[in-house]
Amino acid sequence: MEKQSMVIGFVGLGKMGAPMAHRLLESGYTVHAFDLDASAVNAFVSKGGRKAETLQMLGVACETVFLSLPSPSTVENVALDETLYAEGSVVRYIVDFSTTGAASSRRIAAELSSRNVAFVDAPVSGGVAGAIAGTLAVMISCDRKVLEILKPLMRCIGNLFHVGEQPGLGQTMKLLNNYLSAMALAATSEAVIVGMKHGLAPATIIEVLNAGSGRTGASLDKFPRAILPGTFDSGFTTGLMCKDLGLFLEEAETVGVKLPLAHAVADIWYKGRQLLGPASDYTRIIQPIAQQAGVRLEPAKRQPTDVDRHK
Ligand code: NAD
Repeated sequence: MEKQSMVIGFVGLGKMGAPMAHRLLESGYTVHAFDLDASAVNAFVSKGGRKAETLQMLGVACETVFLSLPSPSTVENVALDETLYAEGSVVRYIVDFSTTGAASSRRIAAELSSRNVAFVDAPVSGGVAGAIAGTLAVMISCDRKVLEILKPLMRCIGNLFHVGEQPGLGQTMKLLNNYLSAMALAATSEAVIVGMKHGLAPATIIEVLNAGSGRTGASLDKFPRAILPGTFDSGFTTGLMCKDLGLFLEEAETVGVKLPLAHAVADIWYKGRQLLGPASDYTRIIQPIAQQAGVRLEPAKRQPTDVDRHK
């Protein structure tokens, strides 16, 4: 198959989907996009993408359809939509980049196999910045032969990790990752607030943590990029993080593993969602923790800090 002649379908041009679809365009693919939000589609068309008016139009044009959608139910509705497979449909592969949990992926894969369509769960990590740069970690679970066919396409969006052949394993992997990411952000926020109560400057705390054994993804990335400067613009919402934590708890329950720590972490996030709203950037989780402690957060004037280093 010639790369230039390949036509790809993309459903969901949100914070993640739009830059991923754009990378496919930049790599020379023809991309037909469908989204309920007309402004997202128009923006994509202005960059050279094609507009699919309906899922049926996508189905007759594209052998491979990528999904980047907000919830398990949305993914199930789109992936199993009859019109996508109506007469004239050429769809053979549905690749889902969304985070939906293993049970949902397994259900969809089973239903689609009766149509001879391969469903590939391929959730991603690396945020909007990784989607723009094409450096996402893509956690793929599918048949090896299918992977070989899709590899050139999927390499446009990031680094591929084939975690297994059984449907849902990519989802399980992604949820382990997001549980740890949620815990690290909440725990690092708590540590920073305690330090600030004692008189340490937040930028100092982060710089020292990053040189020591307490560093986390939050201290290395989210604090310097979105929390210390007060921009709170990571591109991932508190609502999506709560969805992922709920899915992670389901993954654990399915295999009978009890997780007291994960429930405590989830409680912090669910309360954060109540106070901040689901559309808030998830880096704002530090704000209710600060508020409860009576700590005022202000954008750092300079960073990294003026830690007095002695060798
Ligand atoms: P988003 O809300 O920004 O985008 C979702 C898009 O899907 C929107 O454009 C919306 O209009 C569209 N949509 C919703 N229902 C639709 C339907 N029925 N048909 C067609 N289009 C529909 O969400 P996002 O932040 O891009 O996240 C997408 C997925 O990726 C989620 O599952 C999320 O958990 C996961 N994810 C997000 C990030 C991140 O940093 N934002 C990182 C990794 C994974």
